[in-house]
Amino acid sequence: MKTAVIQNDKIVIKDAPKLSLNGKQGAIVKVLGCGLCGSDIVKFVHKISKDGTVLGHEIVARIEEINSETDFNIGDVIVTSHHIPCGECIYCKHGNVSMCKHFKTTNIIPGGFSEFVYLSEEHLKNVAHKKPQNLTCIEASFYEPLGCIVRAIKRANPIDGDIACVIGLGSIGVLTAQALKAYQINTVGCDLINERVEFLKTFGIDAYKTLPEDFKADIIFMTSGADKAIDTALKHVRNGGKILVFSSTPHDETAYPNNEIYYRELTVLGSYSPSPNDLKDSLKLLESGKVNVKNISAVYEFEDIQKAFDDTMKNKIMKAYINISRTQI
Ligand SMILES: [Zn+2]
Ligand SMILES: [Zn+2]
Repeated sequence: MKTAVIQNDKIVIKDAPKLSLNGKQGAIVKVLGCGLCGSDIVKFVHKISKDGTVLGHEIVARIEEINSETDFNIGDVIVTSHHIPCGECIYCKHGNVSMCKHFKTTNIIPGGFSEFVYLSEEHLKNVAHKKPQNLTCIEASFYEPLGCIVRAIKRANPIDGDIACVIGLGSIGVLTAQALKAYQINTVGCDLINERVEFLKTFGIDAYKTLPEDFKADIIFMTSGADKAIDTALKHVRNGGKILVFSSTPHDETAYPNNEIYYRELTVLGSYSPSPNDLKDSLKLLESGKVNVKNISAVYEFEDIQKAFDDTMKNKIMKAYINISRTQI
């Protein structure tokens, strides 16, 4: 089978032995397509992942072989995420499932940018779902990223009448703004790139290149970690408001000024990765069309995966979807 691996700062397609269950529980799935996540880019650019790593986790796949207590069958087209919380540890009990040790050590094998992937029984039981019929594979590949967004919104815990502002209108920002709107939160977006501002407006959501001077939000969602975005957040969050950090930053020195947090009684909180329930909510938002993911992805054939990485890094596209198998459903 073909897999895309990191090798000397490139993404290279290599042959690997085909997977098989060999009596194990779980499923072997044929990956139809896989979204390219911002976290894949970070792992690649900052050399967090070693040579030989197969990145990718936003998969849509068809079951080829299965040995499971679940109701899934051969031929089912599914979406899944990669990590599963234990549900018992101190992190899980406090709702910080993405800090759970089990969550961090579970994964799809070898990774989503591969012709075939092994899913454990735990994946099938907790985070895999049949692809809703009304969604294309490209649309369904937003299951995991939208799950992260659902979690971020739950962490921010908006109340009726709140005004939210999304800073950074890449694919995650556009989806965050739409999800907030679906939850009936007044939302505006902000980005330095004109086209992105205009794109958000097509969903009936106000967006600005520069926020009005007197604009204040109850909650700011930071889908950009740039210093400038932090300045904008601090300027436009109301006293007592919240800043939800939902992006990494290219350098570690970034610091929120202590006095702003203290004297203005701000809450700064982070949100990382979703729980199985957040993922279920994500699928509902996609299936119902409340979050519209059409026209967000640029599609690349598997052999052009390096170009998908390059174009994403150059901000040429909002989101890449890698067409791993030519069969699309
Ligand atoms: Zn992702
Ligand atoms: Zn746990």
